[in-house]
Amino acid sequence: MNYAKTMALRVCRQSYALRNVAKSLLSSPAARCQSTLSAPDLSLPVTHLNEEESMMKEAAAKFAKERIAPYVQEMDAKGETHPDVLQGMFENGFMGIEVEPEYGGPGSSFAVANMVIEELSKVDPAISVCCDIHNTLIITALRNYGTKAQKDKYLPMAVTDSVGSFCLSEPSSGSDAFAMKTKATRDGDDYVISGQKCWISSATFAKIFLVFANADFTKGYRGITAFLVDRDTKGLVIGKPENKLGIRASPTCPVYFEDVRVPASNVLGEVGKGYKISMELLNEGRIGIGAQMIGLAQGCMDATVPYIMEREQFGQKLWDFQSMQHQVAHVATQIEAARTMVYNAIRLREAGQPFIKEAAMCKLLSAEVASLTTSKCLEWMGGVGFTKDYPVEKFYRDCKIGAIYEGTNNIQLNTIAKLIKEEYLRQ
Ligand SMILES: Cc1cc2nc3c(=O)[nH]c(=O)nc-3n(C[C@H](O)[C@H](O)[C@H](O)COP(=O)(O)OP(=O)(O)OC[C@H]3O[C@@H](n4cnc5c(N)ncnc54)[C@H](O)[C@@H]3O)c2cc1C
Repeated sequence: MNYAKTMALRVCRQSYALRNVAKSLLSSPAARCQSTLSAPDLSLPVTHLNEEESMMKEAAAKFAKERIAPYVQEMDAKGETHPDVLQGMFENGFMGIEVEPEYGGPGSSFAVANMVIEELSKVDPAISVCCDIHNTLIITALRNYGTKAQKDKYLPMAVTDSVGSFCLSEPSSGSDAFAMKTKATRDGDDYVISGQKCWISSATFAKIFLVFANADFTKGYRGITAFLVDRDTKGLVIGKPENKLGIRASPTCPVYFEDVRVPASNVLGEVGKGYKISMELLNEGRIGIGAQMIGLAQGCMDATVPYIMEREQFGQKLWDFQSMQHQVAHVATQIEAARTMVYNAIRLREAGQPFIKEAAMCKLLSAEVASLTTSKCLEWMGGVGFTKDYPVEKFYRDCKIGAIYEGTNNIQLNTIAKLIKEEYLRQ
């Protein structure tokens, strides 16, 4: 069976959006000429999309416009994700994009997951972060390190209605994440987890918590172990969401572990491998934040340029001032550069080539470009850009998180510098 037909049958099991993709793939000429399920063709431009990618990008854009946009202002004001939006993301197959059909998922690709994040971010980056963490951290963790029993239990939940939260940061360990104090003590067939996590995205509605705790402090970071903890486990307490500057609709909460007892079978991967697991996940996850930031930047431009093409001052459109055109051209160039880096990191990761430096670079650049773009767009809009009548001020607030989570800009620079040094030492 050729690639397109295989994909089509896989996606058929899933959602409205994915079902439409399947239908089109089955009837397309490409379905007859592609013959294998292969790695991406690196001879093509990195931003070239295959049929499945184009159609999923389109489906995500449509969903964002029709099902997220009407709630954006209300969710931002209330600091909550609307339940219809969450439900819609599951129904449309955006939660669990890479999950294999045997667990009820479409078995789609890492590229598609990132492209969906990019499209959702054009409308609301606060919603895309939930999709990002769920797909690139939680699902990847389960698929890469889960036992058969863990996959059988958690993957069907994760594609149906159960959001995942990633619990690494603590009050005294942010960038220095492995200095964590949360401990896991072996007790018979169980582990008892005690400590506090903070800044945990999606915590108010998450049902699956991936928790990092140290099971042996004498081994330093080599004692860190990953655990799967169900929401209803006794002793797991979700604190009050933070009152934040941006991505306000994404709840960010402290999570307390008051002697939370989990069976040893809930260890994800091996005991003591939590450090490695979290690093590997975040190396990939950073590409998702890059996708979020380029989507945000593009969404902000899309909300701004039509305005400056309409608005007149000094008897002409703002757009007709060459100084305006040059600024827009400059920002558009920066977005294109960041997008190319994000797509290059995606293609490298999919082709099984080294990508850690490129992932850190694309996250760093995308966060910087999102910051530049939103700041410029706000200025180009003049006074109205400063009001809540237009989405630009929200993009301006939302973009700041790109330079903070999944490793701050300085931490990305540290990673990039370390890898550059290694490259030169190898010469
Ligand atoms: C909205 C939001 C959502 C989040 N979601 C999650 C989540 O779901 N799960 C989770 O586990 N965490 C989450 N986080 C936490 C996030 O990953 C951390 O905030 C981030 O890693 C930075 O840690 P910190 O806040 O403790 O800052 P610090 O580590 O205290 O850093 C403060 C400053 O010092 C700089 N700095 C620190 N170390 C160095 C160094 N070695 N070299 C140079 N500069 C340095 C940093 O770059 C930064 O500018 C979230 C945070 C926010 C704000």
